[in-house]
This record gives sequence, C-alpha cells and structure tokens, in this order.
Amino acid sequence: MATFKLAVMAGDGIGKETVPEALKVLEAAAKKYGGFELRPTELPWNSDYYEKHGRMMPEDGIQQLRAFDAILFGAVGDKRVPEHVSVAQTILAMRRGLDQWANIRPGRLMPGAPCPLKDKEPGQIDFVVVRENTEGEYADVGGNLFANTPHEVAVQSAVFTRRGTERILRYGFELARKRKAQGAGKGQLVSVSKQNAQRHGQVFWHRVFEEVREEYPDIESRFLYIDAACMDMVRKPETFDVLVSSNLFGDILTDLAGAIVGGLGIAPSANLNPDKAAPSMFEPVHGSAPDIAGKGIANPFGSVMAAAMMLDFLGQDQAAQGMVRAVESVLSDAKAPKTPDFGGKAKTREVGDEIARRV
Ligand code: ATP
Repeated sequence: MATFKLAVMAGDGIGKETVPEALKVLEAAAKKYGGFELRPTELPWNSDYYEKHGRMMPEDGIQQLRAFDAILFGAVGDKRVPEHVSVAQTILAMRRGLDQWANIRPGRLMPGAPCPLKDKEPGQIDFVVVRENTEGEYADVGGNLFANTPHEVAVQSAVFTRRGTERILRYGFELARKRKAQGAGKGQLVSVSKQNAQRHGQVFWHRVFEEVREEYPDIESRFLYIDAACMDMVRKPETFDVLVSSNLFGDILTDLAGAIVGGLGIAPSANLNPDKAAPSMFEPVHGSAPDIAGKGIANPFGSVMAAAMMLDFLGQDQAAQGMVRAVESVLSDAKAPKTPDFGGKAKTREVGDEIARRV
C-alpha cells in the first residue's frame, strides 16, 4: 500500500475552515478506493505564527517541507501581517524554494456551477491553463532609484530563461497529449504571449514555442496575444483545450478562467514540481476571505477539488475522480446542502460531510 506524507498548511481565515473538509473527503476517498494511505501533519504556519516568531514559517520551513510527498494549503492573509510579506513567505517561498514551476488551473464548467456567460452549458467549457510559476514578470528583479523624490524611478524586469520557458511549454504539450489520449481534450494548445509589444522576453517566449511545437506534430498549436486570449475566453471559451502562458499573463488569465466556471468558491489550483524532485502544493484559488472567516459558511468545494488534483498527481486517479464526482453530485443536486455563496443556507461542515458521504 502506498503511503503519502501530507503537509497540511491551512493558514489563515477560511483556509482553517475549508482545509479540514478537504481532509475529511480525502479520508473518505482513501477508505472507499483503498490502495493508499495518507499521513497528514498539520503545520501551524500562519499569521498567528508570525505574531509569535516574526515570520510565517520557521527558517528551515522549506527544508522541512521537502520531507513530505505533497502539501495541502489553505490561504494566508490577516490584517496583522502585510500582504506582500505573508504571501512572499509562504506561497512564493514554496513555489521558488520547491521549484513548483507549473501552475495548473482547470477551467471546467461543472453541472450546477454558476456561469456568468450567456448560453454556455456544462460540458462545453473544459480547458486547462498552464502558467509558468517561478520566473517571468514575477522574477523579483528590479529596484528603485531616487526613492521618495519627485524624480523617483522604479525598474521591474521580467526574466525568461530557456530552461524555464522550454519546460513549461513542453509540459503544456504533454498535457494536451494526455488529455487527448484520455478523451478529455481536443489535442490543441494555445501559447499566450505578447511578442508584438514586448520585443525581448515575449519574442523569446514565442521563438521557444515555435521550436517546441515542432516536437508535437500531433497537437494542433497556435498562439494568441494575451488581450485576444482574454477576449476569446469570454466570447468563445469552448475553443480552448490547453493554454500556456508566462507568470503574469497566466495570473490574469486564470482568474478570468475561474470566474467563468463558477468563481472563487469552487476553483482549485496546483503548483507542481513535475520532476517530483520536491513536493507539489495544492490550494483553493480563494484567499483568506476575512469578511466571512469564522462564520463557518465558506464554500469547501475549492479545497476539495484541490485535494482531488493532489490525489491525481500522486497517481491515485480513481480516487481523485471519485472525489470530483462527489463534488459534481452535490453541486448538481438542488436538494443537497450548499453554502450561501451558492445560494444555500448550509455550513461549510455540512457540505464537507455530504461530499464525503457521496464519495
Ligand atoms: P485575501 O486577502 O486573503 O486574498 P480577499 O478577501 O481579498 O482575501 P478572497 O479571500 O479571495 O480575497 O475573497 C474575495 C471574496 O470572495 C470575498 O468577499 C469572500 O468572502 C468571497 N469568497 C472567497 N472564497 C470563498 C469561499 N470559499 N466561499 C464563499 N465565499 C468566498
């Protein structure tokens, strides 16, 4: 039997409420499908920890995380800690420190999920955005000159490496191939870029795309400028299968994608180290949501879907699919409990119990 050591970082706010529900559903899936066992370890690395220790996680936190097979993360954000500090010391530290270079966000409209687009049916929208997660526009290279004077200058550089660009594009092509083989995708890929306006990094990205696509003649590939990609995601999302983009463009595109397939309550995300040289991290897209934290009404779907992505990455695809089907079943059943953001009156825990029951 496979045993997976799981680092559980629920974090702050509603992360503390939704992550326990994801664990509950994971346990139900392990029991139902068998063949694997989860050993969760809760790591209290959050804003309370910051208040006591002056940092969000121990100095050797990233090193400690390396001992795990996967990380289930909730959210960070609390008025006691500046947002750029809490995010940098947790999410960004894990992405870079554990080389989680592929950020994966599925955009699939499930039956019962609210869709703000007109005339779009479940089954019509089913794509995956693959976002470069460690460099590009978020490389943290730059500086300020003549700070706080009238002639202050700020420089922010985007960094595109051949290694980083090649591997993310290749990952996208491999995913397109896998989805096609599974009957889930059309065998198509769109590289999202802006080489008409950014003559260095983006021209380089596009050149690498032209090179890598040669290796995948079985995948129908094309490029779209980021602005056109955003427009098409609203006008005709059914035309997408796999999209690959740089860090910043992916950030924008994935939020838009999340919004058209049900919003923050349901959107999951994976930060993958596809080489498996370090643990990958799985999280709901939502933040700590201080406005509803502590009320027990947060929607747990996003955390549960993130946990399903984790099981899939760990090779437990049957159990992962079982979890997704359980979410779909609750979502599409008008009588099943739902949290207020999905028009119901149920508590987070009741929805989690129901999903676990239906696994
Ligand atoms: P943070 O600073 O941690 O990102 P935020 O409030 O700026 O927090 P989100 O946490 O993403 O950003 O929340 C945005 C809005 O969506 C809030 O009004 C929140 O209540 C709502 N929301 C987010 N996640 C959920 C959820 N799981 N269930 C219900 N509502 C949610």
